[in-house]
Amino acid sequence: MKYSRREFIKGVGAGSALLALPSVSTISRLIPRRDEKKLRVALVGLGNYATHQLAPALQKTKYCTLGGIVTGTPEKAAQWKTEYGIEDRNIYNYQTFDSIAGNETIDAVYVVLPNSMHREFVLRAAAAGKHVFCEKPMAVSVKECKEMIDACNNAGVRLFIGYRLHSEPYNQDAMKFRTKDVGKLKTVESEFAFKIGDPTQWRLRKALAGGGALMDLGIYAIQAARYSTGEEPLTVTATEEKTDPVKFKEVDETIRWEMQFPGGAKSKSYTSYNGFGNRLRIEAEKGWLELNPAFTYGPIKGKTNQGELNFPYVNQQEAQMDDFAQCIVRNCKSNADGEEGLRDMKVIEAVYRSITSGSPANVS
Ligand code: NAD
Repeated sequence: MKYSRREFIKGVGAGSALLALPSVSTISRLIPRRDEKKLRVALVGLGNYATHQLAPALQKTKYCTLGGIVTGTPEKAAQWKTEYGIEDRNIYNYQTFDSIAGNETIDAVYVVLPNSMHREFVLRAAAAGKHVFCEKPMAVSVKECKEMIDACNNAGVRLFIGYRLHSEPYNQDAMKFRTKDVGKLKTVESEFAFKIGDPTQWRLRKALAGGGALMDLGIYAIQAARYSTGEEPLTVTATEEKTDPVKFKEVDETIRWEMQFPGGAKSKSYTSYNGFGNRLRIEAEKGWLELNPAFTYGPIKGKTNQGELNFPYVNQQEAQMDDFAQCIVRNCKSNADGEEGLRDMKVIEAVYRSITSGSPANVS
């Protein structure tokens, strides 16, 4: 069996049912040249996360590499060209981006733009026939998430969301905690908050961010409650607090919410752009697990009723992108796909509905 590079990246991953295909080691043997077996990723938006986390991680990834850039700033294009040796033909701006369709050397694009721009660039990437990695939150509404999933399905490309903690060992352990001999899960507490600086940044503009702390940080607390229980919440009851109505005129500052899960567990969560929190605690009938810090990039720490957890440190961005690349090559399902992004957005919308109505909201 022989694959051309194009078949390898496109045909194996896209569209078709997710079948048991050759293992990565088998495929690696089929693709002789080192570079040829790496998925070539173009970063769209060269802001903080792309510059300080993703690009350095792409220098170390085993299964993908930095293949191109898309930026609205010519000075950044020149700088990245020098720093990473990116050829001119692999450098785009937001206007020329669609011509990436004809660029056989780019396999996937990674959308790292302000939240409300994710939908447009995912749709354009899908139309160009490229697999898509998209940062969290996937978009700013359920409607947009559905459009993005449909666009990628129709184009036969894969869609992944930048949920780096799915590739992080402590959080992976939290995902499995309920399957250990701990009895029924009772409660999950999850909180993620920090004090946001610059009042002029896009994260505080509703048109670009879609929402405030909940969209940006609270999404980790929602994820944690969902992956700890392995269930979708039935209802959400939320309250909002604003201590600085000038800075947080357009977006939420602090939100607390509780969720009821079908198996009987309850979650209690907190997010804020004006506070601190970075913790996950799962309580079951016969045991508990706590991660603190739980959600940042640095080393995660954790313990259970049995003692300290001790997993090796992984670079989360590196692990995440390699997981996505392998999922494309092996045609396997990812737990960080567009459907997962959509499920979180359903919860986010329910949180906002509950705040507006002052009563519990169904997650539908
Ligand atoms: P940033 O502000 O540092 O970068 C945003 C980039 O978008 C910049 O290069 C900017 O020039 C560009 N841009 C294009 N049009 C713009 C516009 N109209 N307004 C503002 N910027 C515009 O932001 P960031 O921190 O890199 O975040 C980008 C995305 O990545 C967000 O969706 C964010 O949620 C996500 N993110 C994820 C993680 C994670 O841990 N997974 C961490 C940080 C950011």
